[in-house]
Amino acid sequence: MIPFSPPRIDQKVIDEVVDTLRSGWITTGRKTRLFEQNLTKYCGNKKTLCVSSATAGLELMLRWFGVTEGDEVIVPAFTYCATANVIMHCGAKPVMVDINENDFNISVTKIKEAITEKTKVIMPVDIGGYPCDYDQIYELVNRSEAKKQFKPNSEIQKKLNRILILSDAAHSLGAIYRGKKTGCCADITVFSFHAVKNLTTAEGGAIALNLPFPFDNEDIYHYLSTLALHGQSKDALAKTQLGGWKYDIIEAGYKINMPDILASIGLVELFRYDNDSLVKRKSIFDYYNSELSKYEWAIIPQHFTKEKSSSYHLYQLRIKGLDELTRDLIIQQVNQNRVSVNVHFQPLPLFSFYKNLGYKIEDYPTAYKNYACEISLPVFYDITPVQMKRVIDILVKAVQELL
Ligand SMILES: *Cc1c(COP(=O)(O)O)cnc(C)c1O
Repeated sequence: MIPFSPPRIDQKVIDEVVDTLRSGWITTGRKTRLFEQNLTKYCGNKKTLCVSSATAGLELMLRWFGVTEGDEVIVPAFTYCATANVIMHCGAKPVMVDINENDFNISVTKIKEAITEKTKVIMPVDIGGYPCDYDQIYELVNRSEAKKQFKPNSEIQKKLNRILILSDAAHSLGAIYRGKKTGCCADITVFSFHAVKNLTTAEGGAIALNLPFPFDNEDIYHYLSTLALHGQSKDALAKTQLGGWKYDIIEAGYKINMPDILASIGLVELFRYDNDSLVKRKSIFDYYNSELSKYEWAIIPQHFTKEKSSSYHLYQLRIKGLDELTRDLIIQQVNQNRVSVNVHFQPLPLFSFYKNLGYKIEDYPTAYKNYACEISLPVFYDITPVQMKRVIDILVKAVQELL
């Protein structure tokens, strides 16, 4: 079988994990802090905190900003459920908007229409690893009209004095927008290191802080690292030092720290990310592009323009004129031939939970249209040329028979 996106687990990863196991220190410590520093260097942002998942990181930052009941947070309707679920956890309302047809990303025009005086945060999602239009989104929140509308209800909100831009960059580590890496394109950027993502630590995430003056990102980092560990004034490592037993609890924090065992996988993966992982991912995309562009029915996904380059996370093929039912049949036939493909994403208003809250798919025609004709192809480091050719052969045959 050709899998969809298994992680790359080679001897280097195993050695680094074993090194951590043998060191006697397996939870948050030296390796997690080193991974954070390396991520900061890589992205060029101000400070980075590793956490247990992107979901935990996004929720922590919404809570840090004071998002609560009565507030609205703007998200694309076309994303993974985590983006909206964390807003629900805070008691706020996810305001879903439609996407661009060409790149699957949140539509800036639709954001503009959705901003109200209740809007506290915009959460753009770099779908498939392709960066959103960050400059245009900043323009929206910096308009004097939008600033006048903004009603701060916490000290932090008062300090920012505008809508916060919290990027869900679960897919887009290493992507570039107008010369800047993701991590410094928004106020705060959250990455995912879940097992299927471009860079994995099995489970994990990182919060890249890049808040403007007068925020002190270093101070916020220290505060957040406490908040990620029960609000405990000392972390586990500091507590094990002789005489270090006594600590304080400064507030009822969370338990979402990243352990060193997981960070050790991340250290190896980040070290070879640009020169190896991304090169390989791009070559897979290039191959699929060149094979599929022979067919009139194939809509090749957008990954590269003068201003943006993708992290090549998802190869989201669209097929002209394809309806949902036929798409499902094509996937069935491809799967029967032992090739794994996927669909990214089922728009949130299609799920019973969000449907029952009153979200209607009819309000997001582009999200539905792109979903209905989309098939994501396998992309992973260890895929072979023979496997790639097989993916294309099986897919093309299924499309030609069923379309
Ligand atoms: C995977 C994913 C997340 C969640 O990441 P976790 O690390 O699993 O919490 C959030 N948003 C998007 C768009 C994702 O694809």
